[in-house]
Amino acid sequence: MPAQAEWQSQCNEFMKQADLSWRDGQPFSEQFDDVYFSRDQGVAETEHVFIAANDLPQAWQGRKTFCIGETGFGSGLNFVITVQHWLQTSAPDARLYFYSLEKFPFSQTDLQRALAVYPRFESIVNELLQVYPPAIRGLHRRNLFNGRVVLMLIFDDVSTGLAQLDQAMDAWYLDGFAPNRNPQMWNEQVFAQLARLSTERTTLATYTSAGFVRRGLAEQGFAMQKMPGYGRKRDMLRGRMTQPPASVLTPPWYRVPQTDTQQKSITILGAGIAGVTSAWVLAQRGWQVRLIDQLAAPAMAASGNPLGVVMPRLSLQSGAESDFHSAAFALAVQQLNRLAAHYPELDWQPAGVAQLASSQRIVRHMRDGDFDEQLVQCIDAEHLAEHSGLDLQQDALWFPLAGYLDPRQLCELLLDDAGERVKFIGNSVIDRIDYQPGAWRLYDAQDQLVDSNAVLLLANGHQLGQFTQTRWLAPQPVRGQLSYLAAAEPLAELRCPICYEGYLLPARHGRQVIGASFHPDDDSIELTDDDHQHNLQALQQWLRPVAIDTPVQGGRAAVRAATADRLPLLGGVADVDEFLNSYADLARGRPMSEYPPGRYQPGLYVNVGHGARGLSTAWLAAEIIAAEIEQQPTPVYAQVRDALQPARFLIRALKKGRSIPL
Ligand code: SAM
Repeated sequence: MPAQAEWQSQCNEFMKQADLSWRDGQPFSEQFDDVYFSRDQGVAETEHVFIAANDLPQAWQGRKTFCIGETGFGSGLNFVITVQHWLQTSAPDARLYFYSLEKFPFSQTDLQRALAVYPRFESIVNELLQVYPPAIRGLHRRNLFNGRVVLMLIFDDVSTGLAQLDQAMDAWYLDGFAPNRNPQMWNEQVFAQLARLSTERTTLATYTSAGFVRRGLAEQGFAMQKMPGYGRKRDMLRGRMTQPPASVLTPPWYRVPQTDTQQKSITILGAGIAGVTSAWVLAQRGWQVRLIDQLAAPAMAASGNPLGVVMPRLSLQSGAESDFHSAAFALAVQQLNRLAAHYPELDWQPAGVAQLASSQRIVRHMRDGDFDEQLVQCIDAEHLAEHSGLDLQQDALWFPLAGYLDPRQLCELLLDDAGERVKFIGNSVIDRIDYQPGAWRLYDAQDQLVDSNAVLLLANGHQLGQFTQTRWLAPQPVRGQLSYLAAAEPLAELRCPICYEGYLLPARHGRQVIGASFHPDDDSIELTDDDHQHNLQALQQWLRPVAIDTPVQGGRAAVRAATADRLPLLGGVADVDEFLNSYADLARGRPMSEYPPGRYQPGLYVNVGHGARGLSTAWLAAEIIAAEIEQQPTPVYAQVRDALQPARFLIRALKKGRSIPL
């Protein structure tokens, strides 16, 4: 058995946090041999170099949405100063999007320490600290000041991160340490991305006056100008885009047209975790929500298990799947931690989660994976015993921020928190929907009109395919059965969930949950002895060193919705006939720009297919849907957004010239 350090080093490179030292109470980068900001003049320098040189706050006057992009978040001082201006000078309903790229994030403690020298920013710093994400690679969208400010913090290399954005900025802050010390931040590739993400009104500013930076930016279409630098620095640069290159990453078929959202009223069908989180997020954005479900209360179907695990799905390859799951998990955990701080009754237990490592598949994950330490660690048997309370004598993966909760209680609490803005309508079975100009209408089995609304979100899991408009999107039903054991030694000692081929949860109210069987294409919810046997055998096999002879005392079965690529279906519903017409020759591959924009069912959206990971993925999914409905910048990388599009299977089939399974 390798020692912990050795074992850890077998897991590949993790995201590295900033290598800091403190000089006179101020952070200093050992890696780049440079200061983040000057203690005495940091604020004045930011005011001069980034705020004034970008003509802020004047440039955002009258704007409902304003986007700033920064290279190098560091301590967040530029962000904090910008937010202060924004709160003082923008309209209360205007929103600032602050995108910032950072490859070596500060820890939360260091961030707090660095910004503590400026007590005048205390309220902004406190908001920032509450939402500051763990050092997990990817794009993290966070709301501050009730959504007046949205921080899009991108923990990634500047080039990788910029290449994944599809949002033009209004102003750029280039703040990536001195160019001669950090050429990765200042090169042609980065300059080209800055230009791609600019329009003819985009400005930029940087403290450096290096000739190659000025020339490089000028070559990309920025009109560059030298101006006096701050303090001892003689010169700095600012620029304005003059010839924006017309290029968007999102293909025309995924550009969902705007719907009329003036009324800010939406009907959501399905009150599981996907529907409830969507309702909650939209309510926070000022929407009135009617949440309809066939059952009497929220979270009674697939989201109604007595306890559920919140952990990320790991995938071997980096790419859209892992980017989505890790960002979704980081957001879920943060929302749960914040809710629990507000509502102590919320039964959220961030106890960590262990995944046993005795299968070849998981061993491969460990060896080949490139995971962040805050997302997942490799632990040896000794540490597993320490964390879990059971002596399982094997290695494991450890998710330090993960945990478990009572999903039904969570859904009820979210609806309470949303208050008047969300109206739950239970016991209402919708049989058919149709669109009459301006509104979707929902009918029951007697063809009685139950509701009508300009915007309709279907969050009805495996039942999505029941409507003619969405039959072609039907996800796969997967039956899963839990078994309950009377809590008894030694399993009752368990302190955190243990996952293997199934999972075992800590004892609660004298019983312990084991899960779950997995039957694709089966939508029955009857309990079967076979499934109980299966659950028990898996437990006995995987937890062999711990003696288990507890009888099963009941259980629960539910049907989840799964997709072929294990990503949910999120977004607008394509008009299939129009897609088949417009994109019939995709297999022959004309340039993307020659195709017309996609035709969509007006105001119809879906949020389904979360499989067994809904408690982790629903939060980010809800933000993605809300951003799409409101035509606001998407909270994920462009390739992630594309990978979640409900029409993706159709487009993939068209591209390959395959027959379309409609
Ligand atoms: N704007 C920051 C503030 O307000 O505190 C200061 C930024 S500091 C001068 C430069 C930042 O760039 C550092 O936090 C550093 O970790 C980050 N950085 C350096 N190389 C990078 C790269 N290749 N990609 C992304 N960020 C990088």
